[in-house]
Amino acid sequence: MKTSVFTAAITAMMATSAAAEGVVNLYSSRHYDTDERLYSDFEEATGITVNRIEGKADELIARMQAEGANSPADVLITVDTSRLSRAKNAGVLQSIDSAVLEDKIPANLQDADNQWFGFSQRARIIFYAKDRVATPPATYLDLADPAYKGEVCIRSSTNTYNQTLLAAIVTNYGEEAAKAWAEGVVANMARDPQGGDTDQLRGLVSGECDIAVSNSYYFARAMRTDVKGVTAEIDQIGWLFPSQDAEGAHMNLSGAGVAAHAPNRDNAIKFLEYLSSEQAQQYFSSGNDEFPAVEGVALAENVAALGEFKADDVNLSEVAKNIPTAQKIFNEVGWK
Ligand code: FE
Repeated sequence: MKTSVFTAAITAMMATSAAAEGVVNLYSSRHYDTDERLYSDFEEATGITVNRIEGKADELIARMQAEGANSPADVLITVDTSRLSRAKNAGVLQSIDSAVLEDKIPANLQDADNQWFGFSQRARIIFYAKDRVATPPATYLDLADPAYKGEVCIRSSTNTYNQTLLAAIVTNYGEEAAKAWAEGVVANMARDPQGGDTDQLRGLVSGECDIAVSNSYYFARAMRTDVKGVTAEIDQIGWLFPSQDAEGAHMNLSGAGVAAHAPNRDNAIKFLEYLSSEQAQQYFSSGNDEFPAVEGVALAENVAALGEFKADDVNLSEVAKNIPTAQKIFNEVGWK
């Protein structure tokens, strides 16, 4: 978020209200309008007022560092394990004790020191043009198979979703295999990496790509509502959950943690506990086409239509440790 008069005013408001009861100050990098409902439902359920600053994750983390002990932030919300772990390493989060979160959030979806917890997931899976691909890659490793030369569209290595995917491959298969994989994918690219996940799906429709990697929620969204360049031709797009006979589909995590200097620490914990409630968990699926982190929560119809699958249950706290290795590999193999 660019600093502006407006955000400065919000910060001032947060600072003055920070000591009062009945407030929770969120720093959020989730970029979804639908999240509004989560906040208003929480306000209704608890009477606690939600103040919110939105920005890019790295900017919010830098801001929390700069604000230090005076930071009004109570909760940092962001997407992707890499960013949650960056926040932890930057010292802007704190460990919390919550029996509710321990009970509801699976152990592999939370930080080993309870500095962050995952609340929703998206599967990073393989899509393909049905009329051009008879045998799509069945696993992540297959994406590097020379049989798919010139066919694969996947976004840039600066993208955190890809950084975490490669870090998971390092965790599951070792650094050497991960490097060979990244090299193979670069050799198979249909074009230089460009755009977001939805643009990879658009490439299938336009014919530029035969195979694409995208998070599931972008596709599920195109099933639910009209997404330009995808929805009208969505029947042409096939999908599969990779590596079902191996580690399972890679899951991208969205999560949150309590800020290191949270002035409203109790409310911050209440907010995180609310995110694990049935109501909020269902809303992650119906509002933003995600998979709930809590087991047994009903999926939205379009998300359920993607089908049942095995998710990789690798410990994301462990995967986060391999993100620097993933970045090194991306540089070495020239993945733009
Ligand atoms: Fe996204």
